[in-house]
Amino acid sequence: MTKAVFFDRDGVLNAIVERHGKPASPRTPAELHIEAEALATVQSLKAAGFAIFVVTNQPDVRRGLMSAASLKAIHAKLAAVLPVNEILACTHDTADDCPCRKPKPGLILDLALRHGVDLSKSWMIGDQDRDIACGEAAGCETILLSRTYNSADRSGADHVVESLSQVISVIQSSARRCA
Ligand SMILES: [Mg+2]
Ligand SMILES: [Zn+2]
Repeated sequence: MTKAVFFDRDGVLNAIVERHGKPASPRTPAELHIEAEALATVQSLKAAGFAIFVVTNQPDVRRGLMSAASLKAIHAKLAAVLPVNEILACTHDTADDCPCRKPKPGLILDLALRHGVDLSKSWMIGDQDRDIACGEAAGCETILLSRTYNSADRSGADHVVESLSQVISVIQSSARRCA
């Protein structure tokens, strides 16, 4: 069994795209801007023995606003820069009532089953309450990146940090590290 860190994608590993004043997702590789701290953070956690996964809601595919080919190209660009084990997306919308759209834990449970992940030794990192709820439902310890568009005080996250690189010290100082 391996331990893992599950990352949300948009607003965590790459910058959100502002659309109509709301945080939104890139729809083309050109719109994907990987955060400056992402590579060093992922490398550090990999060196500490964690498998690295990305779990992301991409309902724009279901909504006809982005093609599946564009999503694949975006993930190829992300994976070319960041040494992640796998990127898994839910491309459904709420009305589909799928088991994988966060806050449901389906994406994490799928990866854990296929990769032999011990979720009791694993982490979920996100910038939205639904990421925290997903991680909690899967049995992970959770870290929220505090952002203007989330409710850091009400998310229920186990930890709240201001920047991505701070997750390293949070994970290193947790009892879960030794579990
Ligand atoms: Mg996000
Ligand atoms: Zn889904």
